Amino acid sequence: MSSNCLFCQIVNKKASGEFLYEDNDFVVFKDIHPAAPVHLLLVPKKHIRSINDLKKEDEAIISGLFMIAADMAKKTGVNESGYKLLFNVEKGGGQVIFHLHLHLIGGWPRIDGWKK
Ligand code: AMP
Ligand code: ZN
Repeated sequence: MSSNCLFCQIVNKKASGEFLYEDNDFVVFKDIHPAAPVHLLLVPKKHIRSINDLKKEDEAIISGLFMIAADMAKKTGVNESGYKLLFNVEKGGGQVIFHLHLHLIGGWPRIDGWKK
């Protein structure tokens, strides 16, 4: 845990956050400023600054994030309509919280012109 990291504090329940999913290694909660009707943050409990800082031993974290993403897409009902998965990497990539997390974004209203 990095004591000045907001997501470490949320993961360790030292800051408020309602988890939609939790296991030994990950938590999922809603983004506080949603960019779409469904906007979840999938967060490993281990403090890793960004994708740039991954080590070989972190492979299971990356695969775990994608498995949980597929599961959460089903649970939130966006799996069939579609969604985006996004890692922002470092400041130029739009990262503002320097604790690795995967955005799951979807649930836009259906618009004319796209078929199921
Ligand atoms: P990033 O730009 O990839 O670092 O994304 C960080 C995300 O964390 C942003 O979309 C913020 O809206 C979100 N965020 C910041 N503080 C909180 C919080 N306390 N609870 C939930 N989401 C947060
Ligand atoms: Zn952290």
